[in-house]
Amino acid sequence: AVSIHGVSKSYGQLKVLDDVTLDIAAGSVTVILGQSGSGKSTLLRTINHLERVDEGFISIDGHFIGYRRNGATLYELKERDVLASRVDVGMVFQSFNLFPHLTVLQNLIEAPLSHGVAKAEAVSLARDLLARIGLSDKAAAYPRQLSGGQQQRIAIARALALKPKVLLFDEPTSALDPELVGEVLDVIRELARSGTTLIVVTHEIGFAREVADRVVFMEAGRIVEVGPPDKIFGHADQARVREFLAKVL
Ligand code: ATP
Ligand code: MG
Repeated sequence: AVSIHGVSKSYGQLKVLDDVTLDIAAGSVTVILGQSGSGKSTLLRTINHLERVDEGFISIDGHFIGYRRNGATLYELKERDVLASRVDVGMVFQSFNLFPHLTVLQNLIEAPLSHGVAKAEAVSLARDLLARIGLSDKAAAYPRQLSGGQQQRIAIARALALKPKVLLFDEPTSALDPELVGEVLDVIRELARSGTTLIVVTHEIGFAREVADRVVFMEAGRIVEVGPPDKIFGHADQARVREFLAKVL
């Protein structure tokens, strides 16, 4: 489970996250919605410790990403230890971020190898992941030889290669041509069904409605409403949530 407790973060004078508290059950799918600039990406990046928080803490199964606890005090880890502590969190961005000079297979085994997994095991897992996303025939291809949808499916497989406890998606389909969105959503849907803990920022409302266990609505760095999709999309309590949805639906 992911526990986000009292997290605040400012850039200069701008408070981008304002006392965010959210508990995410293992195996659940959480969709985060909100206007541009409301802090969705920043929240995901703090879970991965790509951003430091100013206040509060985030833990995954009691383990603090980027920090070590000693009694009541948290100590920030050194950069190389942060990298090791991140294995529990996979992240998939809008831009696929594959290594262009590596083949698909090399992209998939790079992180496991650097975390000390034996090569044969890393390759075997990579082939399993390729089969799961339907791209077994692309192991030797380079990213530039793949469509955007295929690249994003590989990026998802790469995030899974370290067997994370939670997978974060930041608008995973918004850089794709419309006809390629479905194949990426299919992969995410399959992960949701298989019980992977997912936190997804997306504007794909139909998808959110179908796969989310909980929808979180953010505004100006705060969580203003949380609920099951039927409630949020059907009859949200907050007028501003209803207004936002009326615009994007
Ligand atoms: P979008 O839907 O456009 O992706 P978002 O909800 O993901 O928006 P964030 O990217 O989290 O929003 O940004 C929240 C606020 O923080 C914005 O006002 C943004 O300009 C600001 N911000 C984000 N990163 C930085 C940074 N590195 N330095 C300064 N301000 C930043
Ligand atoms: Mg964003």
